[in-house]
Amino acid sequence: MAPLPINWCNPYAGKGRLRLKGNLHTHTDASQCGRIPITRVLKTYEKMGYGFLSITDHDMVTPAWQQRTKLIIFPGNEIDFNGKHHTCVVQRPGGNIHYTKFSDQKEIVARNYEAGALVTLNHPDWEIEEHYTASHLLHLNPYTGIEIYNSVVERLDGASLSTAKWDRLLDLDKRVLGFANQDFHRLSDAIDCCNVVMVREKIPDAIFNALQTGCFYCYYGVSITDIGRKKDTVFVKTKNAQLIRFVGNGGIIFKKMKGKSGSFNFKDLPEVKYIRVECLGFGEAISWSQPFFRV
Ligand SMILES: [Zn+2]
Ligand SMILES: [Zn+2]
Repeated sequence: MAPLPINWCNPYAGKGRLRLKGNLHTHTDASQCGRIPITRVLKTYEKMGYGFLSITDHDMVTPAWQQRTKLIIFPGNEIDFNGKHHTCVVQRPGGNIHYTKFSDQKEIVARNYEAGALVTLNHPDWEIEEHYTASHLLHLNPYTGIEIYNSVVERLDGASLSTAKWDRLLDLDKRVLGFANQDFHRLSDAIDCCNVVMVREKIPDAIFNALQTGCFYCYYGVSITDIGRKKDTVFVKTKNAQLIRFVGNGGIIFKKMKGKSGSFNFKDLPEVKYIRVECLGFGEAISWSQPFFRV
């Protein structure tokens, strides 16, 4: 199944009313670095009220769907290439993940992407020596997106936040989605940082389609109640933002608005190529939208 096309002018055009949270980067004790057995991992996310989850142990597909759980589980695998360039591949239930040890990243990324998987490049700014350079992210092709926030890196060296690299890509018209994941290894990693899909039904295909087409936002404390585009105007409404930032063209903040909601009109600034929305709340609370391209 080929990947669904993305409406880059408005990734939220097909949104539904249901909001479901999910973490797409989760380790169990099947990974050498993970500590928690899968039953406990699933219970943890059920308790947090999540709707979906992908278990992405290193270089393997952990058969989570054999467990009893209320969560919708997408098979996943965090593939590395000689310890470098971690890549999460997440599939629809029953979908195939192509992986052979010691294979080439380009080949694995392309093969899985073309087979309709979500392919994300992980924690670009983890470690003092960055995990991915902007040039690597730019030249690898095709893939779904990058982790713009990976919360486990809060306790590691490097940076959790990779929106600066994302903006460099978007500015060069490299159109990729942003994901926020926990990279869960221990119970204390289960902090509420995730992807929120906007769907009509809680069924695997609806959730997966929303993830593949960008009909979701990255959540870390601010709830977006509505987001979209009417003609040239991008708008956002939230429950608890205190400031809305409209960012584009390689990281330029084109507009800031105090309050819970805001809008941006492409007609006001003809030089703006794309706009993405950052919703800032109390303390470190923030959420990030997907980008809206002018055309
Ligand atoms: Zn990793
Ligand atoms: Zn990981």
